[in-house]
Amino acid sequence: MKNEIQQCSKCLYTSLHPLGITFNNEGVCSGCQIHEEKDSLDWNDRFQALKKIIKPYQKGKKQYDCIVPVTGANDSHYIVHVVKNILKLEPLLVTYNKYFNTPLGIRNLANLRIKFDCDLLTQNINPHLVKKITKHTLRKYGSFYWPCLAGQTVFPVQTAIRYKIPLIIWGAHQGIEQVGMFSHLHEVEMTRRYRKDHDLFGVEAEDLITDFSTLTEGDIWQYRYPDDGDLHLEGVRGIYLGNYIRWDPKAQHEAMIKEFNYKSSKFHRTFDTYDHVDCYNFMDLHDHIKFLKNGYSKVTDHACREIRHKRLSRKNALKLVKKFENKKLQFVNQFCEWINIDKIGLDFILNQHRNRLIWDEVEPNIYKKKKLNLFTKSKLNHIENEHELEFLKNSSINMSSDTKYITIGKGYPL
Ligand SMILES: [Zn+2]
Repeated sequence: MKNEIQQCSKCLYTSLHPLGITFNNEGVCSGCQIHEEKDSLDWNDRFQALKKIIKPYQKGKKQYDCIVPVTGANDSHYIVHVVKNILKLEPLLVTYNKYFNTPLGIRNLANLRIKFDCDLLTQNINPHLVKKITKHTLRKYGSFYWPCLAGQTVFPVQTAIRYKIPLIIWGAHQGIEQVGMFSHLHEVEMTRRYRKDHDLFGVEAEDLITDFSTLTEGDIWQYRYPDDGDLHLEGVRGIYLGNYIRWDPKAQHEAMIKEFNYKSSKFHRTFDTYDHVDCYNFMDLHDHIKFLKNGYSKVTDHACREIRHKRLSRKNALKLVKKFENKKLQFVNQFCEWINIDKIGLDFILNQHRNRLIWDEVEPNIYKKKKLNLFTKSKLNHIENEHELEFLKNSSINMSSDTKYITIGKGYPL
């Protein structure tokens, strides 16, 4: 049939997934197929393989053994727990300040530093510059998050070279977790290529300097990926814990809440209270843009993950997506104020970046989501007794449409 879009028969991802997805004869997507490795691999063996990899980097004295990129949210507590308490490595934590910090994010970052007794290096790029680049990428690519993505994927690599700490330890690999781009057994490591193609949707720092932009080398150099020569000289490599440990963000966050007092919070547009709680925008305005460009939002990512972990049925996942994906944005005013643009101007820019495969302009500036011609081979519902899916909210920190970004903060008393 014309314009047919295939949807996985287990989860809710479709062939429109921006990371690329394939389907087998039963119509099961590559992400669901690779996820099944989580129940078939010998994770004890995998963990032994990890121990072998890190051994040469373990200095055994008071020196940094590795770099761990962190934020005040998603998976950071668990990654640091594994690195410091289980692998017994001494990490230097590094974080890129994206300036959209929630009080909760600042608090979790402080908690991370204090509870795990680690040093933390923060990169605060001149905010005027960040705003200038943000305006450019927002206009040109419909992405105001480019500096955040570029910064958080490059600062750890630059630090590895500057401090001569060659091993970088990341959490899960997004391409494996979402779309099964590789097997866990491929043990893929961090690459310049993946960062450019997927993290940065094909746009490197140098691509921002064009005849039509006012950005110069002096504006973008801090977002440049280091030269291959420097990377080889220091032997820099980045490994993903998800290849060696059975990755389950919900279970991990719950363990971190219990053991280390990780704080979570409810956000408007999804049911997951653990993910990205450090940022006013990731699960708000950024999520809205994801919806305009890809036709789905973060709640679909969360629902697909929960289906695969057999905690959510396909039927109820669809209900959750329906309930959350069109929820009103809560924190747009803060963004408009920060970047100095009005709401009408912002909408104008965003409408230009709507995916025409997904949206119809029914009247000038009024858009309606098209009825997509979804095709699914026999829908599979692989859980029998579904229980109420519970995500904990353990923070009393309130965030409303009036609360301001904490551009730099030292955190709450513990
Ligand atoms: Zn799937």
